Amino acid sequence: MLELDSISCGYGAFRAVHGLSLTLRAGEITGLLGANGAGKSSTLMCVAGHVALQEGRILFNGEDISLLPVARRVHAGIAIAPEGRRLFKDLSVEDNLRIGGLIHPAADFRRDRDRVLDLFPRLAERLPLPAGNLSGGEQQMLAIARALMARPRLIMIDELSLGLMPKVIDLCYQALERLRSEGLAVLLVEQNTERALAVADHICVLESGRTVWTGSAALARGDATLASAYLGLH
Ligand code: ATP
Repeated sequence: MLELDSISCGYGAFRAVHGLSLTLRAGEITGLLGANGAGKSSTLMCVAGHVALQEGRILFNGEDISLLPVARRVHAGIAIAPEGRRLFKDLSVEDNLRIGGLIHPAADFRRDRDRVLDLFPRLAERLPLPAGNLSGGEQQMLAIARALMARPRLIMIDELSLGLMPKVIDLCYQALERLRSEGLAVLLVEQNTERALAVADHICVLESGRTVWTGSAALARGDATLASAYLGLH
């Protein structure tokens, strides 16, 4: 579904990611791992169109989207739950969802809303509340739900479990597995490497913007050198 063909991206003359190649298929979860500053968020934001692509190509369902503006990428089926969630905190939960679905006819809103509430039933009881009043876990659910309102084929989630309680992390991961079973491609950035390794089909490990490991998560789980050198696992 998504092919990153040797992409480099960054800010002005600064290069945050060097020559990353990655293929994502429908119905698979890919974990993008690495320490702080490795270039994970920059990669996601580059695919979404917010960070400048400096070299290489981005193909989405075979179409070269490298030069498409953000809105066209959303219409093509790419959505992001960004780092820090970036919710509209003074607006209600329902209005945050409405904004996520603005690219579709207003008449579709209820159906799309009910579909994401089925995935995150907790949000159903909180629809009239300001998003800023939700717990951290509920805010993360809302960020994912808002992204899903656009009916993406690829969803990118930055730091899914950061600061959340284990029970809530479980709920978010269950939702991800359901999205995978529905045929979405998921690109997941995680500091919680054990969680990501447990759920992902493939992983890619970045260090200082360069790819140090890419392959199946099953292989990664069995690679002791990778686990201790780059993933902080023993
Ligand atoms: P983190 O988990 O800390 O977000 P990350 O792996 O997502 O880490 P990025 O946020 O992509 O890493 O950062 C990669 C590099 O790009 C870092 O050196 C960072 O300082 C730099 N960078 C990130 N955002 C900007 C920006 N807006 N302007 C300039 N440099 C930036």
